[in-house]
Amino acid sequence: MLGKSTRVGIIGGGLGGLSAAIALKKIAGIQATVFEQSHKHDEVGAGVTIAPNASRVLDKLGLLEPMQRAGAIPDGSGVYLDAMGNLVTEAAWEDTAKQYQNIGMYRPDMIDILVQAVDPEAIRLHHRAKSIEMLDAGVRVHFENGKQEDFDAVIGADGIRSVVRKAVGQPTQFAYSGFMAYRGVIDASDLPRDWNRISQTWMGNDRHLMTYPLQQHKLYNYVACVPSDRPLKGPWSGPADVDEIKTEFSRQAWDPRVHRFISAIKETFWWGLFDIEPLTNWSRGPIALLGDAAHTMVPHQGQGVNQAFEDCITLAFFLKQANSVRDIPEAFRRYTAVRMQRATILQVGSRRAGAMFDSQLQFTNTKKRDLDIASGRDFRRAAVFDYDALKVAENALERFKRL
Ligand SMILES: Cc1cc2nc3c(=O)[nH]c(=O)nc-3n(C[C@H](O)[C@H](O)[C@H](O)COP(=O)(O)OP(=O)(O)OC[C@H]3O[C@@H](n4cnc5c(N)ncnc54)[C@H](O)[C@@H]3O)c2cc1C
Repeated sequence: MLGKSTRVGIIGGGLGGLSAAIALKKIAGIQATVFEQSHKHDEVGAGVTIAPNASRVLDKLGLLEPMQRAGAIPDGSGVYLDAMGNLVTEAAWEDTAKQYQNIGMYRPDMIDILVQAVDPEAIRLHHRAKSIEMLDAGVRVHFENGKQEDFDAVIGADGIRSVVRKAVGQPTQFAYSGFMAYRGVIDASDLPRDWNRISQTWMGNDRHLMTYPLQQHKLYNYVACVPSDRPLKGPWSGPADVDEIKTEFSRQAWDPRVHRFISAIKETFWWGLFDIEPLTNWSRGPIALLGDAAHTMVPHQGQGVNQAFEDCITLAFFLKQANSVRDIPEAFRRYTAVRMQRATILQVGSRRAGAMFDSQLQFTNTKKRDLDIASGRDFRRAAVFDYDALKVAENALERFKRL
């Protein structure tokens, strides 16, 4: 069995890397070390939705209750609306068993909860991995600060620009979606009086606005997506003037409530929306990828970090089955076999969801858009929200044993 003496290095201390450290400890008894390039754990001052499929994982890791306390469970289902405020359909927001609901989380709260669940000695800040070297037995990581460390296994949780991806023999390119998002939060007390305090997606012609509650409904997250080539000309994100959103949303007719909502925004920043093409492998020997390093997706299904949580519990489950460090490559192959298809479907589906919300491609026909969104709701509940990553891994193990 692997355990305390197994040396596992996790590159990247974002939401995925920290969750991996927690899962490895809790499920496989492995105390991994997390290496983060920044000098502190940082997350953007915006929201993220924990979907029921991820809540199921967090519950098993003992993290659900603190997330529920810090976040906001919407009061009932959200809505998809057209630009003039006509209801297209209600949104899926809980699993079929009604056990787990969406939770709107303020990202800094989420990272705080994760950091608190990791032994401080297992986190090394200011360690930027520069290159990964495969040894006869194990892996060596070279850091930009001149240090190097050897491990029995390395997990790349280093995001879209992953260095570890290269060591797995996968391409490092990323794709720009042609869209950027203005993101931030609005204090609930600043919301227009007639603003419906539920999750909402307003769909226009090549742009959309999404909002949902955070922090026990004290804050409201917003994501306003618009077409732009700005991220191709320099940095991928930065602070922005609120007037930019007003200008962007004055280019077509919207229900006046949308303009009043945007007028309540006091601060914003922009973020280019990139993803990667689905990879053909996530592991090579004792090196594996996880989270955005493995499957960056555009955010329109709110599944990026939720998939990272599913990755974590699956990876930890297969590592738990390993009898010695020699079994780690097989554990990583099994993890990859179980996870890749699921994440790929969501990568592709996220692009499609963006086209729907922005009425692009085949969805310029808004009748088709509305029908697809309405019929997609039940599919989303069954295929995405009801998914039990641990159960899928357990079933797969039985099949692997028969091979
Ligand atoms: C607008 C928007 C809205 C979104 N909404 C949702 C949502 O509602 N639900 C959802 O599930 N997902 C959502 N996502 C996606 C989600 O944010 C990402 O999938 C998630 O943050 C990925 O986490 P990660 O830890 O894998 O990668 P990252 O967050 O990119 O973290 C990688 C970490 O690795 C560190 N790092 C990078 N390179 C190195 C290196 N060489 N050495 C050491 N450290 C390194 C970085 O500093 C960082 O801390 C959204 C994304 C966007 C842009």
